[in-house]
Amino acid sequence: MPTCAERSEDWISPGGDANLRASGATTGSVTPEPDGACAARRVQEEQRPFWLKAFDVASVSALLVLLNVAVARLVPALGEGGAAAWILLPACAAAVLAADLVSGLVHWICDRFFAEDTPLIGRMLIHPFREHHVDPMAITRHGLFELCGNNALAVLLPVLALLLAGPPRPSASSLALHGFVIAFSFAVFATNLMHKWAHAVQCRAVVRWLQRTRLILSPEVHDRHHRGDFSHGYCVTTGWLNPLLDASRVLPRSEAWLRSRRRRFARTLLMRPVRVRRIRAGGVRMRARSERRVLAPRLRSRRAS
Ligand SMILES: [Zn+2]
Ligand SMILES: [Zn+2]
Repeated sequence: MPTCAERSEDWISPGGDANLRASGATTGSVTPEPDGACAARRVQEEQRPFWLKAFDVASVSALLVLLNVAVARLVPALGEGGAAAWILLPACAAAVLAADLVSGLVHWICDRFFAEDTPLIGRMLIHPFREHHVDPMAITRHGLFELCGNNALAVLLPVLALLLAGPPRPSASSLALHGFVIAFSFAVFATNLMHKWAHAVQCRAVVRWLQRTRLILSPEVHDRHHRGDFSHGYCVTTGWLNPLLDASRVLPRSEAWLRSRRRRFARTLLMRPVRVRRIRAGGVRMRARSERRVLAPRLRSRRAS
């Protein structure tokens, strides 16, 4: 029986070299799974808890409805804003950059910290990222709700807050704020779709065009993450910030700093009983000193008599 990695070769188009490398079939960066493991993984995927599926459907549906309302409110305000409407373009660009940064930070945290059995976030958040390294093509088998459920849930609150704050005014600042929140939420929501398309063998022509023009994550840019030790190219919305984050090595440095702090924190905890013992020992010494101070004059007076 073919393994997942071997089977993924069948899905590679002649031009999909990056996808082939991402699947680990040529580089060997992905550990081959034993016979039957692929089928077992598929069964596991199908056995996702019902409550998790329901949660994903509810999150995605709620977000799409709220975003629709937010856009419907923004369009007339843009018309009234006139020249101020130009602000929407830089606001949207900033929002996509922010979403790319958030995708990189979340991806980095989920790849480098915690475990699949961590309470609450282990099954929902950590498992999909770790699974993706072992079986990069699994993401192409996931449906819209499973792909986008977590992200939709994450941005529900800002969109809800925007709607509760009232309709946008025709001023540049109000239009920029509404445009930013809407574009940011949509980019975060669509991040896993863009990630999936970077692995997919066949995509619609418009998706390929967006990838070629680097407006969304391209297979070539994302390939860097799946080569080596998964320590580069964490941003998976557009990948625009990957060169900056990789060149500055800000994430590996932050990881080293956090791990050193964690060790210091653990040492502090371990030293706590030692400190208690020291305090107790200090207390005994203080008591002995005070006793000496009391007893010494009495002894001296006894000797004198
Ligand atoms: Zn990763
Ligand atoms: Zn990937």
